[in-house]
Order: sequence, then C-alpha cells, then structure tokens
Amino acid sequence: MHPDLFESEPTAELLASGATWAEGPVWIPESRTLRFSDIPGDRILSWCEQEGLTVYAEGVEFTNGRTLGLRGEVVQCSHGRRRVEVDRGGDVTELVSTYRGARFNSPNDVVVASDGAVWFTDPSYGIEKEGEGHPGELEYGGRWVFRFDPATGEATPVVTDLEQPNGLAFSPDESILYVSDTSTDLPSGEPNPSGGHHIRAYDVRDGRRCMHGRTVVTIQDGVPDGFRVDEHGHLWSSAGDGVHVFTPDGREIGVVPTPRKVGNLCFGGDDGTTLFVLASDSLYAVRTRVRDAAQVLRSRG
Ligand code: MG
Repeated sequence: MHPDLFESEPTAELLASGATWAEGPVWIPESRTLRFSDIPGDRILSWCEQEGLTVYAEGVEFTNGRTLGLRGEVVQCSHGRRRVEVDRGGDVTELVSTYRGARFNSPNDVVVASDGAVWFTDPSYGIEKEGEGHPGELEYGGRWVFRFDPATGEATPVVTDLEQPNGLAFSPDESILYVSDTSTDLPSGEPNPSGGHHIRAYDVRDGRRCMHGRTVVTIQDGVPDGFRVDEHGHLWSSAGDGVHVFTPDGREIGVVPTPRKVGNLCFGGDDGTTLFVLASDSLYAVRTRVRDAAQVLRSRG
C-alpha cells in the first residue's frame, strides 16, 4: 500500500451503527464532532469520541451533503426543501433555492471555494426516489452543477453534461473541479447498465467557469457517490466495496475495504488525518497520513 497515504495496512474501524443510509459528513473542529445525514431517517446525526452517536436534529427535510463555510458555519443540502441552507448553531436559514425562478431538483453535495462561492450538485434523487424527499418535477429541465455567488445572490450553472451529478471536490489549488456521475443508480432503483459510475475533471477558469470535461476515474464496484481530494491531489472515492484512492490522472494507488457500500467520506479528527467513512448504516474511521485539500488551503489563508 502507498506509504504516503497510510502508515501501515489500512483498516476501517467501526465507530457507530444505526443510521438507515448515512451521507453528507463534515468534521466540526470547534466541537470535535462528526455531523452527518441519515437521509431516509430524515434526521441529522452527530458522533464524538466521548458520547458516541447522538441525534443532532430530526424532521430536517432530508438533508444530504454538507461542508464548512469560511467562518465555520455548516453549509448543507436539503432534498425536501430543494435548497442549499446554512446551519449556524442550530439556526437554519436558506442560502439559495432557485435558478431563474425555477426550483432546484434536490441539491446533493456541496463545497465552498476559498473565495466563498458555494458549488453544489443538483441531481434528481430527492424528488424521484422514494423515502429521500418529496415527489416533484424537474423545474429547470436539467440535472446540473451550480455555483452560488453570495455577493450577487445568484446561482449559475457550471457543469451541464452529467446525467446525475453527485459528489464534487476541488483540486488543491482549485484549478480543477471534480464531479461524479452516479446515473448507473437510477432513482427508481431499476438497473441502468449504460449509466455513469465515474468522476469527471473540469478546468476552472476565473474561479467561475468549467471547461474541458474529461473522465478521470471509473468505479467498477458500485458508484463514486461522495469523494474528497487530499492535500496532494489524490481522490478518495466511495465505492460498493470500500474507499478507493486515485492519483489526479486516475491511477489507483490504494483501497480500504469496508463490509458495506460506502456513500460518502470526509477527513477530520484533531489533526485532520482521520478519514471518516459512511458505509450504509455505519460510520468507520481510517487512520491516514494526509489531510483534506480545502482544509490545508484555508489554513494557509
Ligand atoms: Mg451524494
């Protein structure tokens, strides 16, 4: 196994079980907790070393992905409210819910760039899949990736060539945006062998446009739902059989097997090098030697 990634053979240590389908993890340094969604359970869970797993909030309108804003606030996606919202100490307010008057489908995952812009994916799982939101229509007619500019209050489409955009992350210098397409997983649950199960890379121009899309990673077992990029530019992707690690050009350099299908993951812990892995109903921890690219970029200011 790659010595830059792990000190020894990596193992996934079980921390907690009891979610229905766990998604959307974020490490909150202030409280030293991991917060994540239980989407079908319509609740947000919290894990910390002292207390283990607790319920943070219930009846949350099917939140999914989340990340930290520049001031430590939690930015999260809500399938049920079809919006991106902010949680400041339990006070939840809307950030954005429409594009040119049409509601989003069901924002799935979100990242905040170093300039404060909020980039998020908008597939249709939350309006088409039973138990993960409310049934609804595609109002703007696509399934796109958007960039929300807090200065103008407007969302602009940045990627429109994916069938079901899902996870997303920037390269360490934010010159590349990676977005996964999980359209092999249809909202109906029917098999869709011709659908996507890959991650595409886009060159980011002027911090606001995406160009030259190309597929860099294809996951063979399952789909790359959520993923993260580490400080060296490696992609850490979820898959059906664990976490797979790739170089920026898509060469696989590590695997951490898990007993269950992985939905999402994030780096955290006191030194930022613990990988928290959400696999179906359970939360696992993996010791690594790397930190999240965005965290390192922000710590350099
Ligand atoms: Mg997702």
